[in-house]
Amino acid sequence: MIDKIKVLVLNQSYEPLHVCTAKRAIILLFSGKAQRVEDSHRVISAPSLIVVLPSVIRLNRYIHRPLKYTLAFNKKNILKRDNYTCQYCGRNSGEKLTIDHVLPRSLGGRTIWENVVSACRACNLRKGNKTLQESNMELLRLPTRPLSPLHLTLAAYSLQAAEGWQKYLAYNPSGLSAVWSGPRERSIL
Ligand SMILES: [Zn+2]
Repeated sequence: MIDKIKVLVLNQSYEPLHVCTAKRAIILLFSGKAQRVEDSHRVISAPSLIVVLPSVIRLNRYIHRPLKYTLAFNKKNILKRDNYTCQYCGRNSGEKLTIDHVLPRSLGGRTIWENVVSACRACNLRKGNKTLQESNMELLRLPTRPLSPLHLTLAAYSLQAAEGWQKYLAYNPSGLSAVWSGPRERSIL
């Protein structure tokens, strides 16, 4: 279990750095390399001690590792952003997902992060070349462009995000949008 639970790791500056396992986080805490910032609701117990698992930790030393902002716009990353879940019916059955244009291309919908979502074949077929309104379908959440590869990874852990991650993910150094250099639009299908 401790290998499956994810912990958000912040730099000394509180900038999100990466995600590690709870096991790794405990090692960092006990070796004095990090401190606890937010607790999770999970507890593990061994014969001689009880440990509340952290949800967010912060490194004691500043790590010079600039965030990478270049994020490839492709099917693999769209599926990852959507946590491999159909954004219409919420199914995550492991079946091969398709990419759906929320506003269909035939109606001028563009192939950009904000207009594409993961969809199961049945939902994609049902929606067809219709708008959301015409098809009477709803999205689980609005598609957005992840700020960076790190944010893409974090988007997949939305459950943990409820456990105190959210306020740290808002970290957005000034000029972030200016350095964005990913492709804006291209064919992904
Ligand atoms: Zn579906």
